[in-house]
Amino acid sequence: MLELPVQESIGTTNCDHKFCKRCYLYYIRDKINCGSSLLRCPAHKCLACVEDTQIFDLLASDPVTSNKFKKHLVDNFVINFPWTSFCAQPGCEMIFRANQSDASKDIGNEVICSCGEAICSKCGETWHSPVKCSLLKRWRKKGEDDSETFNWIHANTKDCPKCHTTIEKDGGCNHVVCKSSYCKYEFCWVCLGPWDKHGSSFYNCNRYVEEKDSMKESQERSRMNLNRYVHYYNRQKNHEESINLEHKLRATVKEKAQELMKRDMSWVEVEFLHIAVDVLRKSRKCLMFSYVFAFYLKKSNCAEIFEDNQGDLEGATEDLSMYLERKLPSSADDVGEVKRRVQDKARYCKERSKVEHVFEGYSNDSWQYTDKYF
Ligand SMILES: [Zn+2]
Ligand SMILES: [Zn+2]
Ligand SMILES: [Zn+2]
Ligand SMILES: [Zn+2]
Ligand SMILES: [Zn+2]
Ligand SMILES: [Zn+2]
Repeated sequence: MLELPVQESIGTTNCDHKFCKRCYLYYIRDKINCGSSLLRCPAHKCLACVEDTQIFDLLASDPVTSNKFKKHLVDNFVINFPWTSFCAQPGCEMIFRANQSDASKDIGNEVICSCGEAICSKCGETWHSPVKCSLLKRWRKKGEDDSETFNWIHANTKDCPKCHTTIEKDGGCNHVVCKSSYCKYEFCWVCLGPWDKHGSSFYNCNRYVEEKDSMKESQERSRMNLNRYVHYYNRQKNHEESINLEHKLRATVKEKAQELMKRDMSWVEVEFLHIAVDVLRKSRKCLMFSYVFAFYLKKSNCAEIFEDNQGDLEGATEDLSMYLERKLPSSADDVGEVKRRVQDKARYCKERSKVEHVFEGYSNDSWQYTDKYF
C-alpha cells in the first residue's frame, strides 16, 4: 500500500502513517470481512489501532460492512468477558451480564429476556431448572461427544409395537394411536408401552429400571451405561421436540379459541387456553431438564422421591397436552367441563413444575450424584 503525503490521505489517530483513502477503506473492509474486530494500521509492523469511531465514519455509506463490524465487536466482547453471554434464544441479540452473586450458587435465577425467553442468570443458558448449571454444561458436552453413537436411536418415525406400521410423530403429545385402521393400538411414543398403563396412577415411563444381568464383561457394562444414557437422553429429547412442535399446538388452540368466541364466549373467557399452552411449555421445559438432573443422580431415597414427583408431573403434563389437542365438545355444558379440567390441570402443572423439593435439596446440599460420569 502506498504511503501518501497528500490531502486525501488518512491514517489512524495513534500513529503518523498516512495512506490513500481508497486503499485504506479497502483494507478496512477486507479485514472486517475476514472477521476481524481489532484493526491495526496497515503500515508494516505498526501496532497502532484503528479507532472504532473512524471505522464507523468511513463505513457510513456501507451499512452492511458497518453492521458486520458492530457484530464482531459485540461477539468479541461477549467471548472475552466471562460474565457475559448472548440470550439462548436463536436470533435474539440481547446480552446478559451474569449476576456475580450467583457465582457460588448451583443455579441462577429465572430472568425473562425481552424476546420472551426465560434465561438462567448464572450461565445465560435457557432456564434449566431443576438441573444445575455445571451439570447441564457436562450434559451438553457429553451430547457433542456421543452424538454419532445415538443419532439413529431417536428419529421422528417409529414402528407400531403391535403391527409394525411406521408412524410419524406430528404433535407434541406422547399418546400415540396407530394409524393402521385394523390396529389402532394406543401406545406411549417414548417407551412404546401400552398407553392405558400410563394413567396418572401408574405412570412409571420416566423411571429407569437397572438391568440385573451380571456385569462381568466390560463390553456389557458399557452397553448398559449406554442404555442408561439413552433412557434419559430420549426422554429429554422428546420433551425438547414437543416444545419445538409447539407452534402447531398454538395454531390448534388459536382455532379453538376462535371457535369458542363464535359461540359467544368472550376473549377473557377463552384466555384459559392460551394460558394453558404457556404452562404446558414451562412444564415440558422443566421435565426436559429433570431428565438431565436424574441422569446424574445417585440412587437413593431422595432420588426415588424425585422420580415419583417427576412421573407425577409428566403424567399431568401429558394429560394437559391431550386436553388441548382434543376436539371441542359441542354442548356449552361440556365446554364448561373441558375448561374446568384444563384449568385444574394447568394449575397443578404450574405448581408442580416449580420442583421446590429440588431447590430445598440444593440449599440443604442433600443431592448426591453418581461419580461414574465424572
Ligand atoms: Zn502506523
Ligand atoms: Zn490507493
Ligand atoms: Zn432473548
Ligand atoms: Zn444456569
Ligand atoms: Zn399398529
Ligand atoms: Zn411410556
